[in-house]
Amino acid sequence: MFCEICGVKIIGQPSKIYVEGAELLVCRNCEQFGSKKWSRYPTATQIKVKLPKTKPKEDLFAQLDFGLIENYPDIIRRAREKKGWSQEDLARKINERLSVIKRVELGKMPPDTKLTKKLEKTLEIILTEKIPKEIIPKEPSKGELTIGDVIVVKKK
Ligand SMILES: [Zn+2]
Repeated sequence: MFCEICGVKIIGQPSKIYVEGAELLVCRNCEQFGSKKWSRYPTATQIKVKLPKTKPKEDLFAQLDFGLIENYPDIIRRAREKKGWSQEDLARKINERLSVIKRVELGKMPPDTKLTKKLEKTLEIILTEKIPKEIIPKEPSKGELTIGDVIVVKKK
């Protein structure tokens, strides 16, 4: 079962939502893009949403609902400088080409999952966040994450 909006594999029960009268089975994160009740008229949130035309197949982050933080180039550069390493030093330590480090620090090339993990471990930083981060269940019910749980998870 895959989310009909973002293409993510749905673990557990999909959520049924209505977008402009059409029924969609979606993941928890995409619930916000429609309404739970059938309505002919789009809600305010539906108007803002652009549905992606292609499903992310290779994107591991999408499957995990984790994404790179926006300012990853700054985080990497600052962490590296704090350690007193040059870009060459970092490249050597994580066994990557200098050109890769340069492009990543300039924000021209988002690191893939493997590189992100290496950077996080070597520089002792966090480069990913759960997306979308504003989706926190308002009324935690049995078996769901509470706001407290979410904060604990994010701190790790
Ligand atoms: Zn989704």
